[in-house]
Amino acid sequence: MKICRFDDDRLGLVEGEEIVDVTAALDTLAPRWPAPMGDPLIAGWPALQGPVTEAAKGGRRVPVAGARLMSPLTTPSKIIGIARNRKNLEKESLNFELAKNARQDSDPIEMFIKAPSAMVGASEGVALRFPEGRNDPEVELTVIIGTRCTDVAYDDALDVVFGYTIGLDMTLRGKGSSSSRKSIDSFAPLGPWIVTADEIADPDNLSSSLAINGATVQDASTRDLAFDVRSLIAHASAWYTLHPGDAIMVGTPVGFQPVHDGDVMVASFEGIGAMTVAVRVHRRG
Ligand code: MN
Repeated sequence: MKICRFDDDRLGLVEGEEIVDVTAALDTLAPRWPAPMGDPLIAGWPALQGPVTEAAKGGRRVPVAGARLMSPLTTPSKIIGIARNRKNLEKESLNFELAKNARQDSDPIEMFIKAPSAMVGASEGVALRFPEGRNDPEVELTVIIGTRCTDVAYDDALDVVFGYTIGLDMTLRGKGSSSSRKSIDSFAPLGPWIVTADEIADPDNLSSSLAINGATVQDASTRDLAFDVRSLIAHASAWYTLHPGDAIMVGTPVGFQPVHDGDVMVASFEGIGAMTVAVRVHRRG
């Protein structure tokens, strides 16, 4: 099942080239105070399945091509990023700016947090606040956690996955903390929709690509990652309780190319789809 948020906060199921509007199912999601941590759609999904199926029967259909795709996540408690999760790191001939960032600690998995306020959907695009710097899109499989969990064992890790989406871990290169450089507004495009976990047999064997203005700059696979999805969930949940809707961007293979004002990125993932994201410069004031 492919779940999207489109136009003015409509909930949709993507079927081929069409979106079926199932927004009516959301009537059963009652607001609560205080709101529990996490994304209410993901947390409430088990109870929503019946109403969604019902709503889909008579749901309005619109072409995907004409829809304004928003981030399928709305309020995750956190977006966890994984730094330098690549095989053969020592063989990389990265540019000086990247080499300066080379890890020197012995922690096998290095996490950082991206602010949820950095999320946007494909249709909203990326706005560069520091266009004079180097802004790199890192296309990454993004794991969506489905259930509140902590200390998850490696072998059980895929059981807590709700689904997968495409993430662009937008990164302003530089010396500042990665939480700052990766949390700029719009620096976490997610989408174009969430594919539920049952449709992805092996998240550690998915090909991906990134094109900028039609030129492919990255052609990769999650096989190229040093740590698999189970390892990342086990590790993250050893540090943090994970809540429904929490996202883990698993890291990107090599193939960095910066983007500039006016560029158009197309990020694709096997089993998920493709997300087109435009780049502009943020207008201050
Ligand atoms: Mn990254």
